[in-house]
Amino acid sequence: MSAGRIVLLGAPGAGKGTQAVLLAEKLGVPHISTGDMLRAAVAAETPVGLKAKEIMEAGGLVNDETVIGIARERLAESDAEGGFVLDGFPRTLDQAEALDEILAELKKPLDCALAITVDTEEVVERLLKRAKIEGRADDNEVAIRERMQVYETQTSPLMGYYAGKGVLREVAGMGQIQEISDAVMAALETA
Ligand code: AMP
Repeated sequence: MSAGRIVLLGAPGAGKGTQAVLLAEKLGVPHISTGDMLRAAVAAETPVGLKAKEIMEAGGLVNDETVIGIARERLAESDAEGGFVLDGFPRTLDQAEALDEILAELKKPLDCALAITVDTEEVVERLLKRAKIEGRADDNEVAIRERMQVYETQTSPLMGYYAGKGVLREVAGMGQIQEISDAVMAALETA
């Protein structure tokens, strides 16, 4: 793989965030999480944060325009010039198309969309466990179900989108963090 412009895909709780951080460290590129940026906006009570708060707590998606704007600004920062690991963006086909446009403008196309696949039952278990540890506002059972539903309907079609472009790689997300991280690195070798 020539550079490290990577999108990580996966259902909520697939371990995507953990792997995104590890991968970004290994590649020496920024980890860009729209969820983290939105949570920071909520905490800072910015206009975006005030609008996003309830939607996030209910497990819904913040509107495309807002999220695309956040991603566009972040990707234009100098530390993303040599690559990035995008975590939680894109989540809809419109966002994926917008990302392609942003990267085309920057003349830096995506190298790889890496999907971490897991069994839904295990995912729900992981999320409930994380809810206890982290106390995230969107980790109650109703919101978790909503987030899984949103993932199935809105985000999982991105696998086909990226497969069609020849940049999709899949890694099984079951097992130890280190094993999965090794599998992620191996999958990227083929990208
Ligand atoms: P995450 O930390 O990636 O699970 O994101 C937490 C929440 O932030 C999601 O459930 C959404 O409400 C919102 N969010 C994060 N990224 C996006 C995105 N790309 N599009 C829409 N909403 C998002």
